[in-house]
Amino acid sequence: MDTTIIEQFARVLAGPEAVITDPQVLTTAGHDFWGFGGTPGLLLRPGSRDEVVAVMQLATTHQIPVVPRGGASNCSAGMMPNQDRILLDLRNMNRVLDIDVAARRARVQPGVINAALQQQLAPYGLCFSPDPVSQPLSTIGGNIIENAGGPHALKYGVTFNHILAVEVVLADGTVITLNANDEGPDLLGVLIGSEGTLGIVTEATLRLRPVAPITRSLMGGFATAHDAAATVAAIIETGVVPAALEWLDRAGIVALEQFTSTGYPTTVDTILLIDIDGTAEQVNHDMAVVEQILRRMATEVRHADDDQARARLWYGRLHAPELVLRSGQAFFIG
Ligand SMILES: Cc1cc2nc3c(=O)[nH]c(=O)nc-3n(C[C@H](O)[C@H](O)[C@H](O)COP(=O)(O)OP(=O)(O)OC[C@H]3O[C@@H](n4cnc5c(N)ncnc54)[C@H](O)[C@@H]3O)c2cc1C
Repeated sequence: MDTTIIEQFARVLAGPEAVITDPQVLTTAGHDFWGFGGTPGLLLRPGSRDEVVAVMQLATTHQIPVVPRGGASNCSAGMMPNQDRILLDLRNMNRVLDIDVAARRARVQPGVINAALQQQLAPYGLCFSPDPVSQPLSTIGGNIIENAGGPHALKYGVTFNHILAVEVVLADGTVITLNANDEGPDLLGVLIGSEGTLGIVTEATLRLRPVAPITRSLMGGFATAHDAAATVAAIIETGVVPAALEWLDRAGIVALEQFTSTGYPTTVDTILLIDIDGTAEQVNHDMAVVEQILRRMATEVRHADDDQARARLWYGRLHAPELVLRSGQAFFIG
């Protein structure tokens, strides 16, 4: 990219290492977790909303496309820089600005890592519901723009259900705020899941929820996928909504076992991993309902009643993406 243009960007960004031209860093930053991407002409790391505004104004003046970047964990090749584009890395904007415990809401910058936010919320007994398996590396900005879900989306919904407001910088540097209760067309809904095409998220107000007092897990192993599907239907029919209900097929079970000892039964065709959460009374009731169905339909049933046992049961599923990556296969279980 033209050095006089690079100098102009350098003048509007204050932070150290905010303007990067090192080819190796550009290539690394320009590729996502799965290896998709490209090498941008320039990497910029703004530290504030005002810096994002200045960058977008300059980029528009020079007609340079801008590709936003969070944790680069998306599964949609949603971050595709090249030599003619600027990669805008939002991870320096990583402050939790406010946690309002009584109102159960938090105001955050876009580069806050999902898992880091959950850690800050835990002492208040609160959480941000979206729990993508990429929690340790994905950002709230990326969660919003990909409308991320997670294992617990069945009961608690996806990111769309938990965003109250978003501040966005548009291509020409205009700053707008979109609220969930705005009248007229649902522009916030249009932005959520837009894969970086509409603007740069510079702040978000998130809806929080109380962490359920108790969570217990069950695993069912099934002789056929049909039995597992019938089990899912039977559970849903009872009105019990598991916090999570995850499906592992035969190919997935065998593939995972090649790279780590998951402890999952390898003789079954399908595995269901089920979380039940709520108060002790609710959990006891729902566990009994679900277990009764599993005992009827599954060839093997396991319980995980404390955090350690649950972590062991979920290990294979939660590490599936990195295990698949290690396999070198061009597919993923995400
Ligand atoms: C191991 C692993 C497990 C995963 N598990 C799940 C899962 O369980 N559920 C699920 O839904 N997804 C999952 N994903 C996909 C991915 O983690 C999510 O899509 C996540 O929300 C992406 O966040 P990110 O910060 O990495 O965003 P990036 O990958 O950096 O960016 C995603 C998109 O958003 C744009 N973008 C980023 N930040 C901004 C911003 N501030 N403003 C505007 N645009 C922006 C980018 O240009 C890109 O188009 C997984 C991925 C991996 C690697």
